[in-house]
Amino acid sequence: MNKTIAIIGSGFSALSASCYLKKYGYDVTVFEKNSTVGGRARQLKKEGFTFDIGPSWYWMPDIFEKFFNDFNKTPADYYILDKLSPAYKIFFKDEVITIGDTMEKICAEFERIEKGSSIPLKNFIDKAAKNYDIAINKVVLKPGISPFELVTPETAVRVGQFFKTISGEVRRKFKNPKLISTLEFPVLFLGAKPSNTPAFYSFMNYADFGLGTWHPRGGMYQVIKAMQSLALELGVNINTDSNVEKIAVANKTATSLKINGEIHQFDIILSGADYHHSETLLPPEHRQYSEAYWSKKTFAPSSLLFYVGFNKKIKNVEHHNLFFDTNFETHAEEIYDSPQWPKDPLFYANFPSVTDATMAPENCETGFFLIPIAPGIEDTETLRLRYFDLIIGRLEKLIAQDVKNNIIFKESFCIKDFIKEYNSYKGNAYGMANTLSQTAFLRPKLKSKKVSNLYFTGQLTVPGPGVPPALISGKLVSELIYKNTIKFNL
Ligand SMILES: Cc1cc2nc3c(=O)[nH]c(=O)nc-3n(C[C@H](O)[C@H](O)[C@H](O)COP(=O)(O)OP(=O)(O)OC[C@H]3O[C@@H](n4cnc5c(N)ncnc54)[C@H](O)[C@@H]3O)c2cc1C
Repeated sequence: MNKTIAIIGSGFSALSASCYLKKYGYDVTVFEKNSTVGGRARQLKKEGFTFDIGPSWYWMPDIFEKFFNDFNKTPADYYILDKLSPAYKIFFKDEVITIGDTMEKICAEFERIEKGSSIPLKNFIDKAAKNYDIAINKVVLKPGISPFELVTPETAVRVGQFFKTISGEVRRKFKNPKLISTLEFPVLFLGAKPSNTPAFYSFMNYADFGLGTWHPRGGMYQVIKAMQSLALELGVNINTDSNVEKIAVANKTATSLKINGEIHQFDIILSGADYHHSETLLPPEHRQYSEAYWSKKTFAPSSLLFYVGFNKKIKNVEHHNLFFDTNFETHAEEIYDSPQWPKDPLFYANFPSVTDATMAPENCETGFFLIPIAPGIEDTETLRLRYFDLIIGRLEKLIAQDVKNNIIFKESFCIKDFIKEYNSYKGNAYGMANTLSQTAFLRPKLKSKKVSNLYFTGQLTVPGPGVPPALISGKLVSELIYKNTIKFNL
């Protein structure tokens, strides 16, 4: 195979694809507009503090294991993985729920909150485990070409679970609102409201309670560094500071890329940049999806993020902390139904230096704060500051200590940055939500219908948002490219 492939972007999906395509024998070159690789998963280092700019939850360790195994490697060849114990803490107004690192501990915590709740919990997680097996080994490994991909003996008997929602399913089994929120949390990673997410996605609950929460020592960026090393070992060419400005097309075939003003020719083009942006690089007649198409889709939230250096250790917090002390439904409506800044937002705080001393200077704490917000809403410095004050005030109250006066610095990241840094549609953080009407073959396609040698990967196509799906997306598109090269010599 002596065909040349250009890959636009260097996020998880693009790096994954670069490794698989190189393994198939292509001549692979990556072009990343930013000065470091990793996309949404880049790293910020400041005054001895280390921050993951985007993802921080390492879930589904089996998917990472499989990725590296495909190249006769394991994650341990590149980074040290610690299982977090406890996995995380959820702060409610009047109570804290701690999710332990084993089902026994989690069952005991459920019993503490509601007597007898560990029995439906075990049933729920058993069913979720079966769904996980089917989802990971059967459903997500399909390229999203045809609806029949979803029809297997296992999915056929579970068809009802695609038409019920996770929210309904959880409420049928549990009455305590705090346990309901705890069990609805994992599907938020899929980018939609639990009341709009099929019950089959309970496999995320198995990923949470069954497989546990892990941390690569040094942060999630260690995984990006590992994939970059693997790609370089395999012989992939990686270029940073390389902004792709245009994809030229002749006779329905992509012929070249304009990169930093220069024209480079390739046999095949794969874009790992946001799908909407990738299509705007094409002449309009070669785009598959109109602006109207994108505007009708349910996008996953954007986020207001803060990276904060504290000059002391913070008590009463864990590595991962969810602040669910306000109304979950109201915040979800302000993201999805009537997009606006949330009046009383839920938020997430990550203090990786609680378990990993490499993330902060001695006796200091690294703090990452995330408020999910609707994509496309107004983003100003004043709004960012107002929300920072709001969440820090709530944090101080809930953890019963002063932290505001211990801030050395803070940096923020929001909608405008998502657009500027990643060419993200409306500044979305996690791509397109995985609702029933935006699942599998109903998502934007891996292969262009209009340009014969143009492909897409990443969180806007199959399987969807999140780091493990991005690894799988890179694999799926590479298999498709290889199959088409053999079949059509494309
Ligand atoms: C704040 C945040 C928190 C998250 N938390 C988690 C988590 O805890 N766990 C989890 O599993 N997932 C999480 N996610 C989701 C996960 O990070 C993403 O799904 C995943 O990283 C997306 O990878 P990707 O390859 O699809 O896209 P990206 O990472 O966005 O990569 C696209 C790349 O294309 C580049 N690019 C764009 N335009 C051009 C151009 N014209 N020329 C050249 N390059 C270009 C961009 O610079 C970027 O590097 C989080 C995401 C965010 C933003």
